[in-house]
Amino acid sequence: CGIVGYIGSRDAKPILINGLKKLEYRGYDSAGIAIYEDGEIQVRKTVGRLTNLEELIEKNPVKGTLAIGHTRWATHGSPSDVNSHPHVDGKSEFVVVHNGIIENFLEIKEELIEKGATFVSETDTEVIAHLLSHLYDGDLVTTVQKAVAKMKGAYALGIIYKNEPEKMIAVRLASPLIIGIGEKENYIASDIPALIEHTRDIYILNDGEMAVITADNVQLMTTDGKLIERDVFHVEWDV
Ligand code: GLU
Repeated sequence: CGIVGYIGSRDAKPILINGLKKLEYRGYDSAGIAIYEDGEIQVRKTVGRLTNLEELIEKNPVKGTLAIGHTRWATHGSPSDVNSHPHVDGKSEFVVVHNGIIENFLEIKEELIEKGATFVSETDTEVIAHLLSHLYDGDLVTTVQKAVAKMKGAYALGIIYKNEPEKMIAVRLASPLIIGIGEKENYIASDIPALIEHTRDIYILNDGEMAVITADNVQLMTTDGKLIERDVFHVEWDV
């Protein structure tokens, strides 16, 4: 039930794991991360505590400066390794972490299966990765907008795409998500405690909004593509 993402020049792994630990209060049954390394996206995920994930990563090390991570509170599909997030499309190019529920996922899933997609999990989330792959039009931002237009429900999403590794996308509808602003590095998270050791400057995403995040820029927009100007929110209190 938590999301943390990082883009910048530092090793993302400890930033994600520590951030997810700060979100443990939200409850979870499994955890995972996806890291962009040497032109590929590497996923490590497991049922159980974050310590299980740390052990898994120790056995299969991975390192990179673009990554998204997740703690899951299962709603569709039992807690299991394969149902854990992140989820990927059939070619492991589009990677998604998701908090919330996609209400019309079965309808989308059936449509995609008819078009040849093969699903490996029981989650509603996996359809998002396949939908992005199916709709891809050469630009991740417009593709995400097209996918979101088809999705009903509640979602906070973190998305990365193997062939556009200079960016990370955040999307929000009825599930919290914030953007943390750093020095030549930026973050996403479900809540402020996950980021406070790195930055106190944040943007709060509202419903129906998304952000296109690079290492040195954050562009906010509505999910139908209207650019948004917003003041940075400075967190004054201690968490
Ligand atoms: N509905 C998704 C699942 O069951 C996301 C659950 C969550 O918010 O962690 O995998």
